[in-house]
Amino acid sequence: MAVAEIHNFVGGAPAPGVASFEKVSPVDGGLTAVVHEAGRETVDAAVAAARAALDGAWGRSTVQERAALLRRIADRIEERFEDLVAAEVRDTGKPESLVRDLDVARAAMNFRSFADTVAAEGLDSFLTDLPGGRQALNYAVPKPLGVVAVIVPWNLPLLLLTWKVAPALACGNAVVVKPSEETPSTAALLAEILAEAGVPDGAYNVVHGFGPGSAGEFLTTHPGIDAVTFTGETSTGSAIMRAVAPRVRPVSFELGGKNAAVVFADTDLDRTLDGLARSTFLNTGQVCLCTERVYVERSIFDDVAAGLVERAGKLRLGRPDDPATTTGPLISRGHREKVQGYLDLAVAEGAEVLVGGGVPDLGDDLAGGAWIQPTLWTGLDNSHRTVREEVFGPVAALIPFDTEEEAVRLANDTDYGLAAAVWTRDLERGHRVARQMQVGMSWVNTWYLRDLRSPFGGVGLSGVGREGGRHSMHFYSEPTNICVQL
Ligand code: NAD
Repeated sequence: MAVAEIHNFVGGAPAPGVASFEKVSPVDGGLTAVVHEAGRETVDAAVAAARAALDGAWGRSTVQERAALLRRIADRIEERFEDLVAAEVRDTGKPESLVRDLDVARAAMNFRSFADTVAAEGLDSFLTDLPGGRQALNYAVPKPLGVVAVIVPWNLPLLLLTWKVAPALACGNAVVVKPSEETPSTAALLAEILAEAGVPDGAYNVVHGFGPGSAGEFLTTHPGIDAVTFTGETSTGSAIMRAVAPRVRPVSFELGGKNAAVVFADTDLDRTLDGLARSTFLNTGQVCLCTERVYVERSIFDDVAAGLVERAGKLRLGRPDDPATTTGPLISRGHREKVQGYLDLAVAEGAEVLVGGGVPDLGDDLAGGAWIQPTLWTGLDNSHRTVREEVFGPVAALIPFDTEEEAVRLANDTDYGLAAAVWTRDLERGHRVARQMQVGMSWVNTWYLRDLRSPFGGVGLSGVGREGGRHSMHFYSEPTNICVQL
């Protein structure tokens, strides 16, 4: 495979960096790209280009023009669908089928959905009665925040990037994007696509690099940025919050999770097992919403354990272009070390390993990759680190419960609060338990089903704020209230 060269993108053109770094494939460890790393000067130039776009024609664009632009971008994403698939697969090693169905398809949907949302936005307005029979008209005019720093992780690179860039542009902001060092390719390709669709120079800029001492830190500490939207680890969110604190900038944070599923004995077992297998193993467990704790009513505990083990056994680890592949590698050797550390810790904590537990042997070809076995444990409880800390791999601990009250208590016994799933045929109980989950998103008899207009985000260590539909409009714009005495 040819080694790609990935550039920063500033003011509508490739921009030099101060150094370069190598990106290797998580499939086999082969070199896939050389990436130009942005220095302080590159970040300065990107922020200046964004500001210039806001001061120019982009800053005077209308909502209708921007909605039409977002639709053209969605069309262009579909025209360049296979290029995006190839770039995402090269960086992540995910099965091609997954990238087609999930990552790239959602990128186009993100732009269309926010085109609809912004076009339908109304104004807050109030007619206020005053003493003496007079009135005042209040109306709140939404304005862009300005230059928005967009910092995203490696697990769903294009999906999460477009989830932020689409509403930011819809509201008239200019963005400086910092993709993960593990997945620089689709952010770079998106620059071409946006330019082809007519996004003016400077409205979308990309700086590549790492966090501390690199592009991430230079961007979040830059005095010229007006807001930060970030998806990634909780500890990184905390560092970014400190970085922007001196200038009190708004932040939107989508952070880590340690998500629970609660399975009641009355559930439709086959459907539940399929759902649990998906929520545990999709994208090799590298989705912030993935289930890592499965609480099961004791009377069906053994059936759920056996059914999940059977489904784990049907997963096929392999090359992305093999249609039989269901499961790719972890993102990197570094991340595999972390996940392997938890697999070892679970055993030290007394876990019984039902399936998996280590590095698979997939032959010499893939020996240089970041492969890990899908893993299920029993014998752990909420006191164990493996059940409290986010692993971000294809793993789950199965834990029995006896009453609904106990299940709710166990599921809520976490510092995180991103998502939960409740599995039951009793819909009254489904609603009741879903509402008691201390999370941003609670599913009943499904998982990961999304209406892009609904609020997305977490509580506790899982984040700050909500994105999606009008929630994104609220974050990416700021109203000026105008009060006119009539
Ligand atoms: P990460 O926090 O290590 O990195 C995310 C991004 O932040 C990268 O671009 C990275 O270079 C940058 N970064 C790192 N340190 C920085 C710093 N000090 N200043 C500025 N930027 C910095 O996360 P990751 O390992 O790429 O992604 C996995 C994590 O993301 C998991 O915890 C997962 O749960 C979380 N995640 C959350 C959601 C959600 O919607 N809640 C979605 C996907 C992933």
